[in-house]
Amino acid sequence: MQASPSSRLGTSPSSTTAKTSPTAKTNPPPSATIPRLIIGTLLCTAIAFPALYSPFVALFYNWLRNSRAYNCSLFETAEILVLYAIIEPIYTYRFAHNPSLRIDVRPQSQQSPPGSKPLLPRLQRPTKRHVEIGKSILPLAILDVILIKKYAGVSVPEIRQSGGYSPFPAGAGSIRGSFLAPTLHRFSWSSPLQLTRALPTEVPSSRRIVLELLVAFFLYDALFFFIHIAFHHIPYLRSIHHPHHTHAEINPQVTNRLSIIERVSLILLANFTLNIIGGHVLTRTLFVPFFVYLLIEVHCGMDLEWGYDKIMPFELGAGSKKHAVHHRVREGHYQPFFCWWDDGMLWVAKHLKSE
Ligand SMILES: [Zn+2]
Ligand SMILES: [Zn+2]
Repeated sequence: MQASPSSRLGTSPSSTTAKTSPTAKTNPPPSATIPRLIIGTLLCTAIAFPALYSPFVALFYNWLRNSRAYNCSLFETAEILVLYAIIEPIYTYRFAHNPSLRIDVRPQSQQSPPGSKPLLPRLQRPTKRHVEIGKSILPLAILDVILIKKYAGVSVPEIRQSGGYSPFPAGAGSIRGSFLAPTLHRFSWSSPLQLTRALPTEVPSSRRIVLELLVAFFLYDALFFFIHIAFHHIPYLRSIHHPHHTHAEINPQVTNRLSIIERVSLILLANFTLNIIGGHVLTRTLFVPFFVYLLIEVHCGMDLEWGYDKIMPFELGAGSKKHAVHHRVREGHYQPFFCWWDDGMLWVAKHLKSE
């Protein structure tokens, strides 16, 4: 028999113990074997036999590098926007039409007849979200058009040229190739904004792409874990994260319920993790769809049969259930995508207590 929606989460409005509730655990369905096999084979072969994939990767990257859109400095911001605009409404539609999947249904009003469908939380139509989209994209787009992009594998003269400077410095002043030293575009009447980005000519191997993606997600998740704890426990920072928790039942639209500072921080943190490992620009391009998908998936408010946490082995994924508990009780499950830091910290705390 299917568990009732509220019992899926295993918490009540007043509950503060649900963060450790066993009902937040994920039980992989038997059908998870198929996606596990497919994903596992793809990952292993991409790492072990990059020559198998190199013709396709070269074809794809060279096609992208020769397109005007990919050379535009706004490409990654546009990529986030388009992917979010496609993926989130799919999850929202599923959420609205599948009450049995919802994991945090709130108590219904007295007037609701027994057995009736649980009321939906307030959801916005896509046509009513122009202001939200504008507020989300504007800060990122501004950064795109004022700062020069500095990617791994691109020489300093090429970076200089893309920013409107001469390739080689004349006299004093130099531009560093490191992303840690941001450089403003050289604004002029002929080049009023930073509209292009310099791309590396080297085609990455599938091994490099997969390993960079794995390390980038591991790093992002670990860094966000500590930032998230700071957001909850340092009084001065609480107001930055507070809007993310101001909702009734968790649903896919909560993904983008973020203060401007938090939203920009999330994107800059993802940028930082990709840059610090010297990620290829193609890795960055492929990071975005997984990143957007995972963010929406953990906020989807549904117990999906093929949730990524059920497909990942050894219960390594946090998933929508654990993140829903975090949203409800505002404590625990601080990692967005995985759970080894959360589980590790709990284990350490338990052992320190028992000593
Ligand atoms: Zn969240
Ligand atoms: Zn939080």
